[in-house]
Amino acid sequence: MRELWASGYMHNRVRMIVASFLTKDLLIPWQEGAQWFWDTLLDADIANNTMGWQWTSGCGADAAPYIRVFNTVLQSEKFDKEGHYIRLWVPELAAMPAKWIHQPWLAPSALLKENSVYLGKIYPRPIVDHNSCKTRALLAYDKIKKMNLKKNRFF
Ligand SMILES: Cc1cc2nc3c(=O)[nH]c(=O)nc-3n(C[C@H](O)[C@H](O)[C@H](O)COP(=O)(O)OP(=O)(O)OC[C@H]3O[C@@H](n4cnc5c(N)ncnc54)[C@H](O)[C@@H]3O)c2cc1C
Repeated sequence: MRELWASGYMHNRVRMIVASFLTKDLLIPWQEGAQWFWDTLLDADIANNTMGWQWTSGCGADAAPYIRVFNTVLQSEKFDKEGHYIRLWVPELAAMPAKWIHQPWLAPSALLKENSVYLGKIYPRPIVDHNSCKTRALLAYDKIKKMNLKKNRFF
């Protein structure tokens, strides 16, 4: 989000990750995220933006036939293994070794102190537990699916 605010750009992979986090981990309507992207993206495009948000939140014309909840930590470890992107946009964590930079809240407290990472002060603790959010999102999705099947509105 800092990259978007500073540059008006965000790579497609990161757009999918933040969109999934907002709509599935936090259960915030996709329209809220789409509005922020519309206000901040240099390449803001009504069709691409809407389709991008609807696809990621699982409600678009070409939505995936299953609900995909991105795991932000696994995505970070897979696509930014050494933490270059994190070090660029989260300088508070720049000194952390790659092993712990994706989940600093699990790092040994001595290592956090050594790197001046004070959780809850200079860097926040996680605001949600991803696994419980994923379960909640899957239950919510299932409920909507059942409601629509009941109304014979095919999903
Ligand atoms: C939640 C979300 C919101 C998005 N909002 C927008 C938006 O407002 N405007 C926008 O142009 N794209 C949007 N996209 C699509 C995609 O993220 C961007 O087109 C791409 O990241 C732009 O970066 P680039 O020019 O470096 O892309 P490259 O990867 O260099 O692609 C070149 C061009 O191909 C087209 N393109 C690439 N990927 C996509 C894609 N997934 N869908 C549609 N066109 C694509 C774009 O015109 C892009 O400029 C969104 C994607 C998501 C997941």
